Amino acid sequence: MAAKVDVKSIPIKFFNTETRTKKTLKPHDDHKVTIYTCGPTVYDYAHIGNYRTYIFEDLLRRTLQFFGFDVVQVMNITDVDDKTIKGATKNNSTLEEYTKPYKEAFFEDLKTLNIEPAQFYPAATDYIDEMIKMIHGLMEKGAAYQGGDGSVYYAIDKFPRYGCLSHLKMEDLKAGASERVVADEYDKDNISDFVLWKRHDPKRDGNIYWDGPFGPGRPGWHLECSVMAMKILGHTIDIHCGGVDNIFPHHENEIAQSEAYTGERFVRLWMHSEHLIVDNKKMSKSLGNFYTLRDLIEKGFTGTQIRFMLLHTHYKTQLNFTFEGLEAVQHTLQRLNDFVTRMQEVDATQSDMLVAPILEIAFRSFAEALADDLNISVALAAIFDMIREINTLCDQGNISIEEAQKVIEMMKRFDTVLGVISFESKPEEIPVELEEALEKRNQARKDKDWGAADELRDFIISRGYVIEDTPKGPRLKKGEHAL
Ligand SMILES: [Zn+2]
Repeated sequence: MAAKVDVKSIPIKFFNTETRTKKTLKPHDDHKVTIYTCGPTVYDYAHIGNYRTYIFEDLLRRTLQFFGFDVVQVMNITDVDDKTIKGATKNNSTLEEYTKPYKEAFFEDLKTLNIEPAQFYPAATDYIDEMIKMIHGLMEKGAAYQGGDGSVYYAIDKFPRYGCLSHLKMEDLKAGASERVVADEYDKDNISDFVLWKRHDPKRDGNIYWDGPFGPGRPGWHLECSVMAMKILGHTIDIHCGGVDNIFPHHENEIAQSEAYTGERFVRLWMHSEHLIVDNKKMSKSLGNFYTLRDLIEKGFTGTQIRFMLLHTHYKTQLNFTFEGLEAVQHTLQRLNDFVTRMQEVDATQSDMLVAPILEIAFRSFAEALADDLNISVALAAIFDMIREINTLCDQGNISIEEAQKVIEMMKRFDTVLGVISFESKPEEIPVELEEALEKRNQARKDKDWGAADELRDFIISRGYVIEDTPKGPRLKKGEHAL
C-alpha cells in the first residue's frame, strides 16, 4: 500500500531562476520551509493572470506539505504605491478607505479558488518605521544616497552582484535605462538607481505621505517586500516566488537592498511562474480579453473549474486561457468526481485483491512528478492511469468495499495537493419532476411506447440533465455546462 512509499526518500528538485538549473531543495530547517510570495497591489480587482501565480504558489505550498514539511508563508499586501495613491487622491479618500474593498475582495477570491491561506499577510503601511530604519542602514553603509529631488535612491554600482537573478549585465542596464531618461531622473547619480524613499509631491500624491528623517514621502515598492520578508522570516528565506514579470527589476532590487543591508544571502531558491495569455494574445483591457476572477464567476464558471484550469499547466509554461479550455476542464473534473462516486457505491465483499499495487504505483508516480519541479501534468496522468485500471476492475466486479475505501483515501491524499475533488457522498439533488419524468420514461420503454419515451428524454435533456445507463438501471446526471 501507499505506506510502503516513503515520500521523504524522494529528493525534491525545483528550477532555480538564479542558477537556471534544477536544484535540490535544502531548507534551513529539515522540517520547515519558509516562503515569501509577492502579493497583490490593492488598487483594483486581481485578474486571472495574477491568480495563475497565486495558484502556482498554492501548489508549491501544498506539495511541500504533502512531502511532510511545515510551510511558513508570507504574502504581502501592497497598500501604498503609485497606483493606490493615485486612486485614493482621485477618489478624494484616504489610502485605507480606497484599498479596503480591494483587499477584502482579494481574500474572498482566495476562498473561491480554494487557495490555502498564508500564515502572514503583512500590509506595507504597517511597516513604515521598519522601512525607514532599513533606508538609514543602507545610507550608513554607503549603498543609498539622497538625490537632488529629496528622494532616497539605492546605488546599484555599490552592489557587485547586481543582475545575478535576471542575468542582465550592469552595462546593458545603463544603456537600456539611458533611453528612457526623464527629467527627474537626473536627480540620481546613475539612471538605473531605484527609489527607496519617494519624496512627497503634493500635486501627484495629494496629502498622502509619511514624515521621515529624509523628508515627507513614502517607501519604494521594492523596499516594502525586502523589509516585510526579513522582518517576518529572517535574513535568509528558503523560497521566494512570484511571476516572471517580477524578476526584473523587483526581485533583482530586493536582493540588492537586502544583501547590502544584512551582508547575508537573502534567498536560497527563486521560483517564477510564466505568464498567462488569453486566446493566444496578451491579456489587455483594450483587446477586450481582460478578466478578473469575478468576471468568470459571473459567466457561470465555478471557482473549482477556474482553479483547475490555472493549475493543470506546468507553472513554467505559458498558459493559454480559453473558454474552450475551461469547458474541457469541466469534463476532467467530472471524471474525477464520478470516479469517487463510483468508489462510494462499491458493495462487493469479495475480490482478487488487485487494488493495492495499483495504488502504490499511482502514489509513487504522483509524488515523483511533483518532486520534479511540480510536474503537474505527469502527476495528473498518474491519477488517470490509476482511475482507468481501477475502473476496469470495477467493471469486472473485482473490487471490495474495503479496497474502494482505500482508493477513496488515496484520492483524498491526492486532493490535499489538487484541492478540486468533491468527496460529499450525498447524491446530487435532482428536481422531483425530472425523477418522475425518468420513471415515466422507464415505464414507456417497458410498454414499448417509443414516442412517449423519446419525448420524456427530450424533456429531461432540455432541463440540463442527461440519462446515464448504470448496472442499477438508468439514472439522471447534470449535463454539460453550457455557456
Ligand atoms: Zn515583492
